[in-house]
Amino acid sequence: MKKKVNNLRPPLYRDSGFFFESADDLKAAFTEEASHPIEPTQYIYARYRTPTLVACEEKLATLEDSKWALLTSSGMSAIDLALGILQKSNQENKWLFLSEIYGGTHSYIDKILIPRRGINVIRFSATPSPNYAAGNSEIVPMEYNLERLEGILHIQRPAVLYFEAVSNPMLIVSDARAIIALGKKYNCTIIVDNTFATPYLWKPLHDEADLVVHSVTKYLSGHGDLTGGVLCGNNTDLMQQAIEYRKWVGCNLSPDDAYRLHSQLDTFELRFRQHCFNAFELARFFSNHPKISTVIYPGLDSDTSHLQAVGLFHENAFGGMLTIVLKPNSENNAVAKFTSLLSPHIPIVPSLGDTRTTLMPIKAVWGEKYPIDGAIRISTGIEDSKTLIGYFEQALMQI
Ligand code: PLP
Repeated sequence: MKKKVNNLRPPLYRDSGFFFESADDLKAAFTEEASHPIEPTQYIYARYRTPTLVACEEKLATLEDSKWALLTSSGMSAIDLALGILQKSNQENKWLFLSEIYGGTHSYIDKILIPRRGINVIRFSATPSPNYAAGNSEIVPMEYNLERLEGILHIQRPAVLYFEAVSNPMLIVSDARAIIALGKKYNCTIIVDNTFATPYLWKPLHDEADLVVHSVTKYLSGHGDLTGGVLCGNNTDLMQQAIEYRKWVGCNLSPDDAYRLHSQLDTFELRFRQHCFNAFELARFFSNHPKISTVIYPGLDSDTSHLQAVGLFHENAFGGMLTIVLKPNSENNAVAKFTSLLSPHIPIVPSLGDTRTTLMPIKAVWGEKYPIDGAIRISTGIEDSKTLIGYFEQALMQI
């Protein structure tokens, strides 16, 4: 007799194919899968979906407050899924991307969308903020000029508008609601990469975005030990297309990773609250430190994005990322010395959203766009804030 199992977590099914009693049953399952791909009653093959994946997707949909969520093998494949279902054959595909987006997305545009898929890509650049008083700092805050954006939408009529609300690494918070409203006015399908803000700070679907993507590699899994992505939405037609695309491209998340993500999501809100708290504590500490010339953190009253962030974000929180600039001093390469002093506790890691605080030297990574001496992006972890500040204090004393 089969025993009843009152499991608290979803079972981890690793089967690549599921078992059928007869050829007729298998045929019926395929027929049902083809005619109702959204909610078939049976599992057939792991590339289509697994029970562990579906359990994790339901949890993510609750978190994002979306009708559906589909997990993919990476943040990039979630972006590819979102855009892949919007490409139309036999017509020009004209898509608009706002410029302050993840560098990998720019590379995907340049290496895949334009040369291989023939997409007509328009990039809309942020420009120096008119409210910025020249000479205040070595970093000129950028923002999107909404009048110009409307002009481009009006003339070009792109089918897709894609953006991120918080820019990387300069952490500019954009007027996301106004951008979405403009896109809607011109009938764009709006995709938001919400990796930096997370559903804790902002839920773009509440503000009429059509699709939301996350690299779950970052805050949602949050332990720096998993690569994945998710696409969320409310439109059932887009869901059906995304299920088909993922099924035939084969980019879903493995059952093991879905299982771990399911558990890690239990602590997401707790973790993110601590990320935000630590980032704020560090921002305050750096703001008063004589060896730091600039602190960029949307939580600070003095930050150019502060009012925008207060208007957009929930929970009076401002995220876990901040950027600092070391004051010029006699050291030849202060960033190299500072980061090597910190590295036993706070290493350089080309990612973010980990439970551990990590660093990215800005000139080394984004030098072409931001050739700023002394600038470092910090992804704050969830360590004890006093211990964290202690590490930075020690390293600053020695440069
Ligand atoms: N979107 C943003 C904002 C990111 O920062 C990243 C990666 O750093 C990605 C998407 C891509 O995610 P993944 O590395 O999981 O493919």
